[in-house]
Amino acid sequence: MDQPQTLAQWLPEAQAITVLSGAGISTDSGIPDFRGPQGVWTKDPAAAAMSTIGAYLSDPEVRRRAWRSRRDHPAWDAEPNGGHAALVDLERAGRLRAIVTQNIDGLHQRAGSGPERVIEIHGTMRDAECLACGLRTPMPEVLARVDAGEEDPLCPECGGIQKSATISFGQALKEDVLDAAIGAARSCDLFVAVGTSLTVQPAAGLCLEAAEHGARLVIINAQPTPYDGLADAVLREPIGTTLPRLVGLACGTGA
Ligand code: ZN
Repeated sequence: MDQPQTLAQWLPEAQAITVLSGAGISTDSGIPDFRGPQGVWTKDPAAAAMSTIGAYLSDPEVRRRAWRSRRDHPAWDAEPNGGHAALVDLERAGRLRAIVTQNIDGLHQRAGSGPERVIEIHGTMRDAECLACGLRTPMPEVLARVDAGEEDPLCPECGGIQKSATISFGQALKEDVLDAAIGAARSCDLFVAVGTSLTVQPAAGLCLEAAEHGARLVIINAQPTPYDGLADAVLREPIGTTLPRLVGLACGTGA
């Protein structure tokens, strides 16, 4: 089976492409993934506790560690890579329906993807959110308080516990965001899952939504995923070169 030939034949036909991106697209930018061989949770399973809402709310020490970890997060100094840039090209060519991202690093927008096209299904680390009143504050403002000595900066409006505006384990996804993601999966003719292990629901199930509504499915990931059998093409090559090649094929600008 000559997969690239097949891709070259049908990629140019895709007019509305929805991309699901996971941690693997940001590893080239120096942000470690969670479940890969060098993943944060592979190497330190206890780190996952910091991402559990129950532990976060009940244990001040978990919150203190979480704020330090946010302040020291590699995303603050990270630059978007060729994978992010390829999706900007796809959007400029008028072929991108949406990017549904599991990433919280904001690198799609920093690369130049239109904010209205990026659906951050797991939220963003670039804002803080009060868990009591919902007030959102740019994260750098809260981290400035951490730098000034506050170990667990509380909401300036109501005194509630604040957290990054991300979805922790035990927290429900925002309904409007999930609806937008499902809509983007159902209304595309090609769904590309890139750099995600497709083990976290409901994000992973978007592959099925797309396929059931007639879209072709391409999976780009270093490791096997539970949806590989459903895919029209599975690519294991590095994302930083594979995604630009696919976008080139789709837009007729590359080989
Ligand atoms: Zn508040």
